[in-house]
Amino acid sequence: MFSLLPWRQAKSIYELTGESLARQGVRLLLADLDNTLCTYSAKEPDQALRDWLADLQGHGVTLFLLSNSRKPRRAAHFAQALDIPYLGHAGKPKVGGFRKALASQGVDASACAMVGDQVFTDTLGANRAGVRSILVEPISLAGNPGRYLRYWAELPMRFLSRNRRWDREGGR
Ligand SMILES: [Mg+2]
Repeated sequence: MFSLLPWRQAKSIYELTGESLARQGVRLLLADLDNTLCTYSAKEPDQALRDWLADLQGHGVTLFLLSNSRKPRRAAHFAQALDIPYLGHAGKPKVGGFRKALASQGVDASACAMVGDQVFTDTLGANRAGVRSILVEPISLAGNPGRYLRYWAELPMRFLSRNRRWDREGGR
């Protein structure tokens, strides 16, 4: 379905606890990399990210990296450092990458959610693929003027879905 509105919004991935995801029936969490799991400039996963992943795994939630990064080794490097499955050059918002990720994990779209910081790739792609979309705030817009412009273009969608907060709807 073509929709630019996320199913839920959260400030960051850290609102998405393993317990709250499992309660929502999420067994597979697809995640964007840059500005969602870490900054564009981060070279390695930090301890907070590793602890969050361990919490998800402790609740039976698989984390899958679905990245559009144009740096050829970046998604692979992070996925290998975290020991999680991944797809680089995922082509979001096209649905092909989402379908590949679901098929590789043998999980139905209904048991999956996608978390990302961009409406026109992460949210739109997930909605088209029938996967629940969770929109987070970008970790940092600094470093590239295009990021501010993109964020500005997303503000109407963030505003229109402002009541769909994970901490209210998902965290219960
Ligand atoms: Mg991103």
